[in-house]
Amino acid sequence: MPNRRHFLTGAAAMGGITLLPYRLTAASHAGHDSFASATGAVVITPVSHASFVMETPMGVVYVDPVGGADLYEGMPVPDLILITHEHGDHYNAETLAGVMGDSTQMITNPAVYDMLSADMQTRASSMGNGDAAAANGVQVEAIPAYNTTEGRENFHPQGRDNGYVVTVDGLRIYISGDTEDIPEMRALENIDIAFVCMNLPFTMDAGAAASAVTEFAPTYVYPYHYRGRDNGTQDPAEFAAMLEGDIEAKMGAWYG
Ligand code: ZN
Ligand code: ZN
Repeated sequence: MPNRRHFLTGAAAMGGITLLPYRLTAASHAGHDSFASATGAVVITPVSHASFVMETPMGVVYVDPVGGADLYEGMPVPDLILITHEHGDHYNAETLAGVMGDSTQMITNPAVYDMLSADMQTRASSMGNGDAAAANGVQVEAIPAYNTTEGRENFHPQGRDNGYVVTVDGLRIYISGDTEDIPEMRALENIDIAFVCMNLPFTMDAGAAASAVTEFAPTYVYPYHYRGRDNGTQDPAEFAAMLEGDIEAKMGAWYG
C-alpha cells in the first residue's frame, strides 16, 4: 500500500524544466517526448485517447490503460497504474490484468476500487478527491474531475472521479481525467506538464479548455481525449491557438 500522507502543494515543484533537443521515435508508437527531470528524464508515450505511459527515474507509470494488453507490447512493465474513473475509455479490467506485473501497484478512485476483483484490490489503493499518497518516490494527489454544465452532471458527477497531479523527480504532471474547466483545475499551481481533456458532450470544448489552461499556465500541455460524439470532436490545433502566455502545446499521436 502506498504510504498515504498529505504534503504541501507546490513544495516539491522545481523552477522550470528543459525540453531535450530531440524527439525519440519508436516503431510501435508514433512518438515519445522526453522531458529533463531532476536526475534524468521523464519520457511520455501517448498510447490512445486517454491512455499514456510515463517512463521516469522513479519507475514506469501507466495512466488509464485500456484497449487490450497488445497495445502495450514492447512497453516496460508498469510500477504504478493510475485509473481516473470507471468509463470504458479509462478503465478496463482485462487490459489491467494483462499489463500488470508481479509488483505493479494501482491507484484508483473509490468507485473503480469497488469494481475490482478481490485479487486486484490487494494490489490497489483507493484515493478520493483531495487525498494524497506516495508510492515508490512518486507523489500523487487526487484532483476533482466533474461536469458542471446543466444536463451533463451525470456523465461525471462531482466527487466520484479523479484527476491526478503526479510529482516525479521534480516534475509536476497534471492529468485531468474527464472534467470541465472546474475551479480546482484553474487553481493548480506549478504544473510542468498537463494533460487536458476536451470533447463534447462528455467533457468541455476547446475554448473552455484553453481558458482554464491559460489560467493555471503549465509549461507544456497535451490536449488529449479530444474525439467526441457527433460534432463533439475538438480540434487540438484550435485549442493550441487559443492559449495565451508562454505555454507550449504538445501534440501526441492519440488516434493513430
Ligand atoms: Zn468519463
Ligand atoms: Zn473519457
